[in-house]
Amino acid sequence: MMNDEKVLSDFIRDIIEREMEEGKHDGRVQTRFPPEPNGYLHIGHAKSIVLNFGIAEQYDGKCNLRFDDTNPTREEEEFVSSMIEDIHWLGYDWDDRLFFASDYFGQLYEWAVQLIKDGKAYVDDLSPEEIREYRGTLTEPGKESPFRDRSVEENLDLFQGMKEGEFMEEERVLRAKIDMASPNINLRDPVMYRILHETHHRTGDEWCIYPTYDWAHGQSDSIEKITHSLCTLEFKNNRPLYNWFLDQLGIFHPRQIEFARLNITYTVLSKRRLIQLVEEGYVNGWDDPRMPTLSGMRRRGITPESIRHFIEHVGVAKKQSTIQRSKLDHFIRDDLNARTPRANGVLRPLKVVITNYPEDKVEMMEFPNHPGDESFGTRDVPFSKEIYIDRDDFREDPPKRFWRLSPGKEVRLRYAYFMTCQDVVKDEDGKIVELRCTVDPETRGGAAPDGRKVKGTLHWVSVPHALDVEVRVYDRLFNDPFPLDAEEGGDFTDSLNPDSLQVYSHVKVEPSLQGVKAGDRYQFERVGYFCVDPDSTEEKLVFNQTIALYDSWAKIEKRQEQERKRRKS
Ligand code: ATP
Ligand code: MG
Repeated sequence: MMNDEKVLSDFIRDIIEREMEEGKHDGRVQTRFPPEPNGYLHIGHAKSIVLNFGIAEQYDGKCNLRFDDTNPTREEEEFVSSMIEDIHWLGYDWDDRLFFASDYFGQLYEWAVQLIKDGKAYVDDLSPEEIREYRGTLTEPGKESPFRDRSVEENLDLFQGMKEGEFMEEERVLRAKIDMASPNINLRDPVMYRILHETHHRTGDEWCIYPTYDWAHGQSDSIEKITHSLCTLEFKNNRPLYNWFLDQLGIFHPRQIEFARLNITYTVLSKRRLIQLVEEGYVNGWDDPRMPTLSGMRRRGITPESIRHFIEHVGVAKKQSTIQRSKLDHFIRDDLNARTPRANGVLRPLKVVITNYPEDKVEMMEFPNHPGDESFGTRDVPFSKEIYIDRDDFREDPPKRFWRLSPGKEVRLRYAYFMTCQDVVKDEDGKIVELRCTVDPETRGGAAPDGRKVKGTLHWVSVPHALDVEVRVYDRLFNDPFPLDAEEGGDFTDSLNPDSLQVYSHVKVEPSLQGVKAGDRYQFERVGYFCVDPDSTEEKLVFNQTIALYDSWAKIEKRQEQERKRRKS
């Protein structure tokens, strides 16, 4: 159970509270999360998960997990197990209430027979194209099928034949007999069953007719006595159809309430498009840390708590909107800051030789594991004559207000010494390969007894003690905040960011990271948050950068660059 103190409120919870006061369903609240197992869950699904399980929790109700597995052509066991893992990871559980729409195939068949007997459903021989043509448009009514007035006996006979495999796919369908002139296209005799000679991941070859989502969904909710059937806005126009089915059958009526989907800038949240990214190799699988899938976010090091907090912050509304990616980033950093121990890691190592430090001396410097939380304790980090600093922390020709290291400048090595750069060593191409520096022995620990101050503090790693690791740094997967806009006249993959993955093969980290395990998280001080990747081996650790720390300097430089351009023009 979650113990988030905050009591949430929104238009759906308002409805539920009103109904509870009125004593509807005897105050019972039953929700469900109903994914189709045709891909991996993404952060959009998390909105529905947090909403459905969160509401059940808040009102002492229950939330079921139900796989809407009505389409055997797209569904796989792999997707079922990944979804189960992801929902558990988010922190939710359904006890013994794990269901499959396929559990209800028998009942749905009986109900279809009942509708046929009541003259409310018929077998249609029109082809899929003809059915589409006959359906009409938003402005024109549809046309009735010539097979619409078959006798009940003939319908029963043909439907049984469909079930027994007497026909080919697309030869016949079962349709509800409602109203071909209805202004709501969903009510123009929707298809209830189609023939599919496919093996189903659970029912095997037992069935060769499969219910459509429209026919299965509402009845599945009814069977499970779902009190509040929460779904996204695109199902609003299906609601009258779901109600029509429930009314004809005279069975329990869940209340359907629609809410807006979650959209986030610089990403796509649609299984169909995510499948394309995976299958066409734009990413390295469903759990690629750049993917908005829950498994990708988990591998990247993002915590389930931050996802929940983000979603609760966004809330539920009836109006479509797109949330800025930076908002999600804020919640990711906020949560990681509180929970991750600190370590030193140098992404772009530049060797520094401390000329006035004894050759074989090693000193252990005490570091707090979390500057804001003493309960994390401390650790000893070795310091020696040769250290690595980050190339980015040195400029031979520093711009104004660059407080880090440059020739003749003094900086602090965190929890070690004040250090001054004396000399720059270059190779024949002019590339800087080494710095020669001195430390002030009086400043051990990182403070000067004479009270003098330095503006820059650098992180460092001792050369002989350093572990050599790989770091994968991720940027947004798309360059365009609205990647789907590219679909007009192109493809959303056109706006993929070619530089979304950068690999640093020889990152130097402090020796205390020896033995860390996949999933462990650290903040590399001054750099960002990192998580150990399952690709790690005994020989080589691999880290994913979850997210960078806020880098003010990048912003300053950008502003200076803009300033420069403005002055030029
Ligand atoms: P996709 O387009 O990614 O395939 P879907 O709606 O077809 O999504 P389902 O497996 O049917 O996928 O979704 C399960 C539940 O998750 C549904 O109730 C659906 O409304 C909800 N859901 C899916 N995407 C989002 C989203 N972006 N925001 C909120 N809820 C979502
Ligand atoms: Mg769907």
